Amino acid sequence: MDDRDGLIWLDGKWVEWREAKVHVLTHTLHYGAGVFEGLRAYKTEQGTAIFRLAEHTDRLFRSAKILNMTIPYAKEELNQAHCEAVSKNNLETAYIRSMCFYGSEGMGLRADNLQVHVMIAAWQWGAYLGVENMERGIRVRTSSYTRNHVNSTMCKAKANGNYINSILALQEALATGYDEALLLDHEGFAAEGSGENLFIVRNGKIYTPETTSALEGITRDTVITIAREQGLEVSEKRITRDEIYVADEAFFTGSAAEVTPIRELDGRSIGNGTRGPITEKLQTLYFDYVHGRRADHQEWLSYV
Ligand code: PMP
Repeated sequence: MDDRDGLIWLDGKWVEWREAKVHVLTHTLHYGAGVFEGLRAYKTEQGTAIFRLAEHTDRLFRSAKILNMTIPYAKEELNQAHCEAVSKNNLETAYIRSMCFYGSEGMGLRADNLQVHVMIAAWQWGAYLGVENMERGIRVRTSSYTRNHVNSTMCKAKANGNYINSILALQEALATGYDEALLLDHEGFAAEGSGENLFIVRNGKIYTPETTSALEGITRDTVITIAREQGLEVSEKRITRDEIYVADEAFFTGSAAEVTPIRELDGRSIGNGTRGPITEKLQTLYFDYVHGRRADHQEWLSYV
């Protein structure tokens, strides 16, 4: 990842990709107190556009607020830098990672002289869960790890340290032959995937867990919006593991994962064991919107 040509935005300057480094005593590296975002830019007929950039930047600032971290840049400045991270690296499609982290100005949990640093990098990244799985669907296992409790780490924050929980769950899923993990909350209800929100379909209606123990996903919001505009019913509710076993369809959403069908949970085929019709419809619509192929919701596209 670090040995390639390109430019990374770091603290207001464009830095050569190989030179965008931090010190080993970087505070966030030690304790995980940082916030980040993951976005995608897609090729449209009018050029490359970042999907829902403003909403991602808003969430970055909300995450920082939760961690009591002050981002030393204006939203507009960061939005501009996101666009330039794509254009300066000559990318037609991109995954963009932004992060705010504490520097190496001090060590220890009590360090109070820390500066907030910001980085933005963009590169080409294909289907997160594999191209063939976008049609076939993925195999998921319920994790033995419980989702972060809302009063242990802050689930509304996309905070670096929260991802230990995700990585443990994902490693377990991959090591046991699955593609992804489903994490349950501390009461045993479905929360989310390691990096995705969950949806199920039963009798033509769409359900998704509330965001008590799940990230307020921007793709989740997109899918809820477009489903309702299509006249589909979407409800947020507590979802049990066995409700997913007997669902007609299930899928994950995320900026990286996009709309990925789930074909199996814990060895039970979901529906007919492949991508269901409502999942397919929403997936197609999602790809139409991100590629600017529909006239409405142009406000979701920020051209670079
Ligand atoms: N949950 C978690 C834990 C995530 O990391 C992500 C990816 N950011 C999501 C859900 C989906 O969020 P979004 O659609 O905003 O990418």
